[in-house]
Amino acid sequence: MLRVLILVAVVVGVALWLLKGRRTGAPPANRADAARKGGAEPAPMVACAHCGVHLPRPDASFDAEGRSYCGEPHRVAGPR
Ligand SMILES: [Zn+2]
Repeated sequence: MLRVLILVAVVVGVALWLLKGRRTGAPPANRADAARKGGAEPAPMVACAHCGVHLPRPDASFDAEGRSYCGEPHRVAGPR
């Protein structure tokens, strides 16, 4: 009977260890996905000077003073 309990404990321990290993293995898989998409480096974020929303710098519009905006309407409206 004791042998069965020890066997069950070992099986449960190994199962938990495998599940934990799979969970910690997830981030590298996501990193591999990002690398496959060509987005290994995240784009720097900027805040819209009008509404404050954050967006990737390549998607932002900029005025003559270099302030960033989320789009043309807010660039025209100016900083708030
Ligand atoms: Zn905005």
